[in-house]
Amino acid sequence: MDAKTQPQSTASAVTREEVLQATQAVTHRFDDEYFAKLDKEEGYPHDYIKALMDAKLHTVMIPEEYGGMGLGLQEACVIVEEMHRSGGVGSMIHGQMFMMGILARHGTDEQKRKILEEVCAGRVRLQSFSLTEPNAGTDTAKLQTKAWKEGNEWVIKGQKLWTSRFDYTDAFMLFARTSPPKDPAKPHQGISAFLVDKRQVDPTQYSSRKIDVMFNHHTFEVFYDNMRVPETSMIGEEGKGFRYLLDGLNAERIIIASEAIGDGRWFVDKAVNYAKERVLFGKPIGANQGVQFPIAKGYAHLEAADALRWKAAEKFDRNEPCGGDANIAKMLAADASWELANVCMQTHGGFGLAREYHIERRFRDTRVFQIAPISPNMVLNYVSQHVLGLPRSY
Ligand SMILES: Cc1cc2nc3c(=O)[nH]c(=O)nc-3n(C[C@H](O)[C@H](O)[C@H](O)COP(=O)(O)OP(=O)(O)OC[C@H]3O[C@@H](n4cnc5c(N)ncnc54)[C@H](O)[C@@H]3O)c2cc1C
Repeated sequence: MDAKTQPQSTASAVTREEVLQATQAVTHRFDDEYFAKLDKEEGYPHDYIKALMDAKLHTVMIPEEYGGMGLGLQEACVIVEEMHRSGGVGSMIHGQMFMMGILARHGTDEQKRKILEEVCAGRVRLQSFSLTEPNAGTDTAKLQTKAWKEGNEWVIKGQKLWTSRFDYTDAFMLFARTSPPKDPAKPHQGISAFLVDKRQVDPTQYSSRKIDVMFNHHTFEVFYDNMRVPETSMIGEEGKGFRYLLDGLNAERIIIASEAIGDGRWFVDKAVNYAKERVLFGKPIGANQGVQFPIAKGYAHLEAADALRWKAAEKFDRNEPCGGDANIAKMLAADASWELANVCMQTHGGFGLAREYHIERRFRDTRVFQIAPISPNMVLNYVSQHVLGLPRSY
């Protein structure tokens, strides 16, 4: 099942089809060569993002009263899947999608009015999420960045790692410890969430360094050096930031699953087309079971991930608990896209390694889903503990 035949969402079928068409109207203008050039030059996709934002696609989940599309997570899935299916990447707008959810649920009226309206109008890019730290990767609640109050400002000090798109964002969400945990066994207590408007911050109070990674991704190490932000930057209540973070995670898992499914479909299309066209020993290579079975098997795994992704997204849009489904969908989708990346490369033989075929680039792109934002191990930890009721192993 692909985005065109997905189940019903909170919005009407016409609206869903319209969302897909609106996304394709943008994605069809950006081909493999566009992304290959950026990859080679390590360029940032400014034109792509502008086109997506001009089409308001980043506002899909923002309520209409702030100028957003007011649709659900299923429509967000349609958008990011199409972005990946057409050879692009969704990370520049996916953060906006789930961060909006955190803001819409927990932000003050002023934050919502100011930031959400500005984001919808395209005046502000809210593209970064500053959580992970060198000593607190998967163990997020052990973060060491601190924030304390001085007058009517918060002062923030600490080091973050992997804050993607930091140099290209106007505003970002940041997590810092504002008090020690009341119960030492619950380190998530005392962490607060901030919405930082970079335009209000003295640029000498922070610095960033790009991390060189294996694909065209713009991610940064960031140092907050007594960075002062207005007291109104705090989201919701002091010390409740980790709870707000968890609120946003299911949406993130389901959106990432959709991106991996889009990648998987791209690999299936490329592998099938090539297997039909490439003739050796007097017949297309795809006539050999050794070539077609791996594609068929990867496709079957992709369809299973797809079904679970829609199940999770439907539950999310109905406000039902969906943690298990969201995590499993993410893991299955990431596994299927990685399996298909390997199958697609193998199907292409030596040409799979040649840059002009784009396979090796997308192979590098899709590998990240095995690591970020959550690894298969941590999904299995979640399923073992929260779905199966086994003892926590860590
Ligand atoms: C390209 C990229 C972009 C990113 N963008 C962002 C971003 O925008 N904002 C942000 O805040 N973060 C971002 N991250 C961070 C990302 O979420 C982390 O890399 C991820 O949470 C893992 O942390 P780590 O890299 O420190 O690995 P570690 O936490 O050190 O884990 C290393 C390995 O050990 C395994 N492991 C750890 N604990 C357990 C356990 N208890 N049981 C079983 N296995 C375990 C993990 O699964 C992993 O395979 C990004 C990362 C990458 C690579």
